[in-house]
Amino acid sequence: MDIAVTKNPNPGTLPPSDKLGFGSVFTDHMFVMDYSDSKKWHNARIVPYGPIALSPAASVFHYANEVFEGMKAYKWADGSIRLFRPYENARRLQASCERLSLPQIDENIFVEAVKAVVEIDKNWVPSDPGTSLYIRPFTFSTDPELALHGIHQAMFMIILSPSGSYFAEGLKPVKIMLETVDVRAVRGGTGYTKCGGNYAASNRAGDRAMEKGYSQVLWLDGVERKYIEEVGAMNVMFKINGKIVTPALTGSILPGITRKSCVEMLKSWGLDVEERLLSAEELFNAAENGKLEEAWGVGTAAVISPIGELSYKGKSYIVNDFKIGETEQKLYDALTGIQWGKAPDTFGWTELVCK
Ligand SMILES: *Cc1c(COP(=O)(O)O)cnc(C)c1O
Repeated sequence: MDIAVTKNPNPGTLPPSDKLGFGSVFTDHMFVMDYSDSKKWHNARIVPYGPIALSPAASVFHYANEVFEGMKAYKWADGSIRLFRPYENARRLQASCERLSLPQIDENIFVEAVKAVVEIDKNWVPSDPGTSLYIRPFTFSTDPELALHGIHQAMFMIILSPSGSYFAEGLKPVKIMLETVDVRAVRGGTGYTKCGGNYAASNRAGDRAMEKGYSQVLWLDGVERKYIEEVGAMNVMFKINGKIVTPALTGSILPGITRKSCVEMLKSWGLDVEERLLSAEELFNAAENGKLEEAWGVGTAAVISPIGELSYKGKSYIVNDFKIGETEQKLYDALTGIQWGKAPDTFGWTELVCK
């Protein structure tokens, strides 16, 4: 792919790691590519990071034709920069585009674009422990009309945000509340895609949980309101009576790459992993009977987020004395060990960007 590069005439500098936070600092450049019915994907370019102009009638603003990805680049001790399973993100973006009738991007072109823009901004990849460069690819429709005649114009962009350590003081358990009013997604809908609309539908429950002192909600399925699906914007796993249980991918759950990696890793350690329906009743019975040993969220941003307290029907259950569980810590160390190049990449999950 030919990528035209326009260098930023006023490059910035990477702030100190403790000032980074998450998702608010951006690098010097971004990747942009246009789509039209006649030209397909074209005009791939890397340009200075900055605002873009769109028609106020652009269909994304009215009909929410938008999908995105979230991934990270890591700087290893040898100075090289690596991605984690980028072809998984490429394929998931294709599946998301397919569901929302957005034009798909070839997976090799996706990975090439990610590598190109990360390499140009390689000085923005932080190297302190726990830090990374968060990568946000996204696709949206730009047809400048309100009539619904399908999607004929779109854009694909990649922006980069250096991020501090998610848990600056190590893993920290969080408090979670079961959500019984709102649902995030239903089977047949867009739950399995990474689309902005799923987030729009989730905000209200998240806000209400925050007001009550919880950091996330535990979602139930939208059809029977019976089975556990996800926690906030993360997949969820439990250790019940020595076995690892995670909700099966029924169509309304986002197929997380961290989830997939955890399942593969846990199985490689010889642990029992059950991907199946898990009802709230079964979960809270296990909690009541002392069989719920660990509970944690999994996703790219935090990697592993231990759950210390679950609230259900006005009752609270403390998990593992609000401490970090053995499986949680082991998974976190093993995954981040591979990502940061501190452990051998026995699964072949990392992908070199540049030395
Ligand atoms: C992105 C996301 C996840 C986690 O996926 P990863 O690939 O592990 O980052 C889980 N649930 C939702 C709703 C998400 O948007």
